[in-house]
Amino acid sequence: MARSFDVVVIGAGPAGYVAAIRCAQLGLRTACIDRWVNEAGEPAPGGTCLNVGCIPSKALLQSSELYVQACEHFSEHGITVNGLSVDLERMQTRKQQVVKQLTDGVASLFKANHIAWLQGTGTVVSGTAVEFCAHANPDRRETLKTNNVILASGSQPIALDAAPIDGERIVDSSGALAFTEVPKRLGIIGAGVIGLELGSVWQRLGSEVVLLEAQDEFLPAADHQIAHEAFKTFSQQKLDIRLGARVVSTQRSKKQVTVNYQHGDEEHQLKVDYLVVAVGRRPYTENLFSPASELLLDERGFVDVDEYCSTNLPGVYAVGDVVRGPMLAHKGSEEGVAVAEYIASGHKHVVNRETIPSVIYTHPEIAWVGATEQELRAKGVAAHAGTFPLTASGRAKAMGATTGMVKILADAGTDRVLGAHIIAPMASELIAELVVAMEFSASSEDLARTIHAHPTLSEVVHEAALAVDGRPIHMVARKRSGPK
Ligand code: FAD
Ligand code: AMP
Repeated sequence: MARSFDVVVIGAGPAGYVAAIRCAQLGLRTACIDRWVNEAGEPAPGGTCLNVGCIPSKALLQSSELYVQACEHFSEHGITVNGLSVDLERMQTRKQQVVKQLTDGVASLFKANHIAWLQGTGTVVSGTAVEFCAHANPDRRETLKTNNVILASGSQPIALDAAPIDGERIVDSSGALAFTEVPKRLGIIGAGVIGLELGSVWQRLGSEVVLLEAQDEFLPAADHQIAHEAFKTFSQQKLDIRLGARVVSTQRSKKQVTVNYQHGDEEHQLKVDYLVVAVGRRPYTENLFSPASELLLDERGFVDVDEYCSTNLPGVYAVGDVVRGPMLAHKGSEEGVAVAEYIASGHKHVVNRETIPSVIYTHPEIAWVGATEQELRAKGVAAHAGTFPLTASGRAKAMGATTGMVKILADAGTDRVLGAHIIAPMASELIAELVVAMEFSASSEDLARTIHAHPTLSEVVHEAALAVDGRPIHMVARKRSGPK
């Protein structure tokens, strides 16, 4: 007899596994199909994020940042270290251990929540049928009966014809997380979030890093003031970011890659020993649906969904990177929860896309939520801006990390916070306060009247909120400024 479920989730990345857990919590008989197999040949739930994305990149960012601290900053604290060196094999092993603990953790959560974790490929046939092909039995196809399907198949790196991945010298982000030697000269195509994070890791470990970015503008989605500050800081760190540089072709020799790129009318050449292609990601829908299902994709290849993540097929939903919106783990997880709750309760709830935080885990980190100053200006929204630099923060001084600032934008009429932009150490953590503030429709005055512990970096957020009204304490007050 066919196995039957209330919900079958396809994909166990942060969108799919979170959706499956929430479904199970709500009493739905749930299966989660995932095809990921790690380098040891074992099934590993957690998708891109846990296996080759958010987590391994942050493990290497942490290790490489500690190395920089030891090399360049311990002496300022009177700490002498002799014979400092990098054991890359150990660093990579640690990274893999972090990943394994977390993927094993997801497997345990599946077990504890009585979720059937099916290892193999799932293909949606309709809202009531999913075809399952197990890794263990690839010649057999089982049809699972279900009342609902959640598609969470994620994304994959965009390939560039000009620089085909060979897995040796020309690699994608997964390859760049697994180098077994520190490249002497590393080229990265794309100075977006992934390019900057990977570039930071290898630059800190000793590579000479050149980032080639086709656009003339650096981090166009970020607030311009923050992007400007970030560009300056990264350049001081010797990340060589070349804007307006479009890669047109590459040639490979045994140990080198020659990259040809155009800058305006000029042709340039760059020789590197490894090249990373980090030009973005695209939705992954291979084997996800049978043609007979007539599942609708949009013009960019994403599964087409409405604001509630419903597809054109009754009972079929889609969440995470495979649907429109920012390709971020937390965005996918939130959509997963919303769909699970809708299936269980019938109550529709829209994920608030105005308050999805974006983070770049460089040093300092960059984080933002809501509108940028340039977006508000373009929309003709009058707003006041409050900025406060880290140089005036006691905690930042004690940490020896005074580069950066917090900027808060508030509606000129209502004082409601419309956006917040941070470049600072731990900006990824600081932004949470601003996300909560925006979720609660807080005003900058609410933040200004909230007590922040001393001495903390969060006081910089407090001071920026005071600065919206022109009354910061630890800086000479300037008149209000902001887009008119
Ligand atoms: P995925 O995580 O891609 O998971 C999809 C899963 O579905 C995979 O396991 C796949 O094998 C499986 N699958 C696909 N098709 C089928 C099928 N037909 N049958 C069975 N299984 C299938 N985001 C952040 O928010 N913060 C970060 O710091 C961050 N850092 C990143 C760093 C890097 C280097 C990269 C590459 C990405 C990073 N991201 C980050 C993005 C983040 O990884 C993605 O947004 C997130 O993983 C998307 O989750 P998802 O569940 O939609 O898809
Ligand atoms: P992200 O989407 O944040 O991962 O960033 C990817 C970046 O790669 C974008 O800023 C693109 O402009 C850039 N990019 C895409 N194609 C090329 C190319 N041929 N040469 C250089 N940069 C590119």
